[in-house]
Order: sequence, then C-alpha cells, then structure tokens
Amino acid sequence: MTRLGVRGRLFTVSVLLILVVGAISAVYLEVQLRSWLRNRMEGELATRAEAARTALEVAGLPFDPGSVQPLVVRLGGALKARVTVLDAGGRVVADSQLDLPAIAELERHDGRPEVVAAEAGSPGVARRHSDTLHTDMLYVAVPFTAAGAAGVVRVATALEEVDEVVTRMRWMLLVASLVGLMVALVMSFLASHLLSRGLRELLASARSMLEGPGAEGPTPPQPPDEIAGIASSLTHLGTALEEVVETLANERDRFEGILEAMAEAVIALDAQHRVTLINGAGLQLLGLDAPPQDQPLLDALTPPLRDALAPVLTGRAEARDIELEGRQLQARITPQRGDEGIVMVLHDVTRLRRLETMRRDFVANVSHELRTPVSVICLNAETLRDGALNDRKRAPQFLEAMLRNAERLRALVSDLLDISRIESGKFPVHPETIPLGVVARRALESVEKLLEDKSMRLDVHVDPGLAVRADAKALEHVLINLLENAVKYTPETGHVELVARPDGDRVRVEVRDDGPGIPPEHRPRIFERFYRVDPGRAKHMGGTGLGLSIVKHLVASMEGAVGVEGNAPHGAVFWLTLPGADGEAPAEDDPAG
Ligand code: ADP
Repeated sequence: MTRLGVRGRLFTVSVLLILVVGAISAVYLEVQLRSWLRNRMEGELATRAEAARTALEVAGLPFDPGSVQPLVVRLGGALKARVTVLDAGGRVVADSQLDLPAIAELERHDGRPEVVAAEAGSPGVARRHSDTLHTDMLYVAVPFTAAGAAGVVRVATALEEVDEVVTRMRWMLLVASLVGLMVALVMSFLASHLLSRGLRELLASARSMLEGPGAEGPTPPQPPDEIAGIASSLTHLGTALEEVVETLANERDRFEGILEAMAEAVIALDAQHRVTLINGAGLQLLGLDAPPQDQPLLDALTPPLRDALAPVLTGRAEARDIELEGRQLQARITPQRGDEGIVMVLHDVTRLRRLETMRRDFVANVSHELRTPVSVICLNAETLRDGALNDRKRAPQFLEAMLRNAERLRALVSDLLDISRIESGKFPVHPETIPLGVVARRALESVEKLLEDKSMRLDVHVDPGLAVRADAKALEHVLINLLENAVKYTPETGHVELVARPDGDRVRVEVRDDGPGIPPEHRPRIFERFYRVDPGRAKHMGGTGLGLSIVKHLVASMEGAVGVEGNAPHGAVFWLTLPGADGEAPAEDDPAG
C-alpha cells in the first residue's frame, strides 16, 4: 500500500470530518425538524378546527347533509384543509373533499380516536394513514353544538408537507456538504502546502546536519514522506550526536590523562584570573588541595607564591624565570584562543639550571687547570730558546719543570677523557662475578712504585674467596684512584690499609689511611669535579681534582655507593659498597697480601 503524504492525509482527515459531521447533523436535524414541524402543524390545525367549530356554531345548521355540506366545502377551501362534520352517533354528515353520494357510502367514524376524544368533550388529535386519500394525515377533532344537537367537526391535513420540508432540508445539507468539501479541499491543500513546506525545510536542515562536516555513517534511506523523513533524520542525528558526544568524552579523558601525566604545572585562567583548569602537578606546585573556586588564583596562594607569580600574571611576558622556595621555575604564558583567558605553564628548571651552572663551572675549571701547566711549559721553552739551553746548570731544571707540567697536562687530559667517556656512556661497564682479591692485587701493583718512593707500608685485609658483582677494569680503576690518594696525601711515616668484607648481601671495601683526613665540612663536596680540600697542596701533589669524581661515577654505574669518613685518631676512610656475588667466584690466585 502506498503511504499518503502529509497533503493526502490532511485532505482525507478533512473529508472524513465533513462527512461525519454532515451525517450526524442531517440525522439530528431531521428528527428535530420533523417533530417541530408536526407540533407546529398540530397547533395550526387546532386553530383551524376552532375556526370551523365557531363557523358551524354560528351558522347553527341542522345535522343534515344537504344543508351543512355547502358550508363545509367553503370552510375546507378557506382553511386549506379537509373538514368533516359528524353527528353525535359518529355518522359523517358533511365532508369538504367528498360529494354527497360518497358521503352517504362512508362508514361511521365513531371509532376513530380523535372522534372518540372529541365526543368526550375535549379536542382529539391523531395521525394515521388515510385509506381514502392514500396519504399520512393529521387529524384534529373538536365538539360543537348546532341547532340544539351535539356533533364533532374534524379538520385534517396531509403530512406530506413535513416530508417535503425534510427533503428540502436534506438537499440543502447535501449542497452545504459539497461546498464544505470544496472549501476543505482548497483549505487542506493550502494548509498542507504550507505545513509540508515547513516540514520539508525541517527535513532538509536535519539532513544537512547529518551530512554536515565531520558527519559520518550511512546515509538514511529515502523516507516515504516528510514526517517519516524528519523522524528518520532525527534518529540518525541522535545516533550521530551520541557518537560525537562519546568521541568528545574520549578526547576529554585522553586530554586529562595527558595533562595529569605532565610533569609541568598547567593552569588555565579566565580574564579575571580565576582557575578554569589545573593539573595535578599544578596543584602540587602551588600547595593546593583543590582548584580555587570563584576567586582569582593569586588570592588563593600563600604570600611568597603570590609575590613570585604576580609579576608573571600581570606582566604578560611570554616567558620568565621565577624563583619559588629554592626552585627555579620557568613560567610560560600563552593567551587562550577565543577569550581573554591565559594558559600558564610552570616548568621546573632547577636541575637544568644546575646542570648549566655545572657545565659552565666545569669549562672554567678546565681552562683554569690547563692554563698553569701550559704557561709553565711555554715560559720554560722560551727561556731555553733565549739562551738558557747552553746554561749547563739551569737547562736541566727548566726541562725538568717542562716535563713535570707536561705530565700534569697528560694526567689532566687523561682524567678529562675518562670523565667524558664515562658520562657519554663510552666507558662500558659490564658487572660480572669477580674475585675481589685479584682486582685488589692488580691495583696494588700499580701503586707499588709510589709506596716504594715514600717507603710506606700498605696492609691488605681481603677475605679470601670474597667475590663481588663488578666490572674488573672499572673496579681496578677505582681502587687505584683511592690507593693513590691515600699514599699521596699521607705523610711518609703513615700507614695505608685496604680492607674488604661482606656486608649483608653487599661487599664493603675501605681504603683507610692515617694522613690529614678530610675535614667534615668538605666531605659532602669532595666527590665533585675539581673540588679540593687544599687546592695549592693538591696541585703540588700533581692531583687533577678529578679522581674522586671518576670514582663516584664508576661505582654508581656498578650499582654501588661511595663515601668518606674520618679515621681514628686521624686520617680518612674512603669506602665503597658493591653488590655481592650470588654464586662462587671463579677460582683465581690468592689475593696479594
Ligand atoms: P686530586 O687529583 O686532587 O687528588 P681527587 O678527586 O682524587 O683529586 O681528590 C680530591 C681532593 O680530595 C684532593 O685534592 C684532596 O684535597 C682530597 N683527598 C682525596 N683523598 C684524600 C686522602 N686520602 N686524604 C686527604 N685528602 C684527600
């Protein structure tokens, strides 16, 4: 079945409405009209009966057909009704629509209800089909007295007049319905045209929303009419909206996830500097539990924070470094797109700045360290060139100084190279299970010459079979450094010890001496590059100031720790701990002792 469009539906509804209303009106009107007309005719007929009675009583004619009939005929003509006169016995004496012979043949009318009522003394009314006239008739009979005798005069009229009026009314209703139908046709056409134009526009806009930029998914099937089209478009629109809302929610979650994962503090502020968004890092940095509500950010902060941030927020500089409770922060302000708000990102650059300072200091230190030996070498070379070469007594001294400083340069460059290799990961450290005794013995061999020069004694207490997880080369480097320092900074009569023992699941190695030791205030910084307790003395000893820094780096890369303590009654104890070996160390020679 083809479905009707909006126009068709509107027209059908209008026609049905007119038909139903017309039919109901017709039935109701007919019933009402019929009863009203009949009542009216009855009233009229009663009046005419009264008139006939008056005429008959005034005439006072005897109940004899011959004398009454002419008056009755005249009365019938004047009253436009059939007038019948009956005597007290119910016999018809005269009738306006019959001639005398016909009257004589008439049966007695004494049984008729209207006649019975009139004979009883009151007007009688009856409706029935007249066999004489073959039509429905209305009768009204009233009693009268003439020439001393009582009789009944009856007036009758045909009811077909009622039918005529009803038929005319039916025709009028039909015509009215037809006119109504025409009007309904035009009106429904106009209304549906206007309505369906609106609906079509609605449908078009719903479709364009569906097919708009970013809209995806299948195109809805062509609907049978505008309303179904709008319904289907709305359904699709709803689905599309749901998808969009879900995508937006996912995006929001992703965005929040990213914001929360950021180490930087991100704070979005509106034009009045109220917080519209802040991430966890932001709350933590500003010491807040929750985003401040309905007040400018600065009002919610502690005075030091307020003082630090106020110039950033009011100055509107793009980026600015601020100091906040000992931390270096870089504040970056970006105007928000679309409104007066701003986004402030606070980046903790404390470490970065410290590294920058360290690098700057390092370069300055290296230059400073290199300058002295290079100057000495140059100066001595110049002196030799300018004649001292032939001075047999001083020339060897100049050469000796040059050699000493060249050696210092070599040591410096070698340590610098080591540091640079370690820091750039080019000093590969492969921890493995190694017997500590073997490494200790190799380290001792390297400082043997120094020991001999100073005639010093060195004791080694390493548990035989003690093994560590370490890189043999790196550990040897570390031990040599610590032993060299101990020998170097301890006076000739001094004594150095290398002790190693298990310490839980780790191994603790100590290099102890009874030299001057490290004053406690210097201990925290002693592992820094170029840090020396007594710079003049250390340089004199040929130190580069880099040894302990290399030690710290190497130990750290083997997952170990390093530190310094004082020795009793004086001297230094440099200790390091390394992971112990899980299994047995590979069999090696006994450590040197
Ligand atoms: P250097 O090459 O100057 O020895 P290090 O980094 O090895 O550089 O040592 C840094 C500083 O630590 C030294 O200059 C010295 O002042 C101090 N130091 C290191 N070891 C000892 C020690 N065993 N006794 C006293 N001072 C020491």
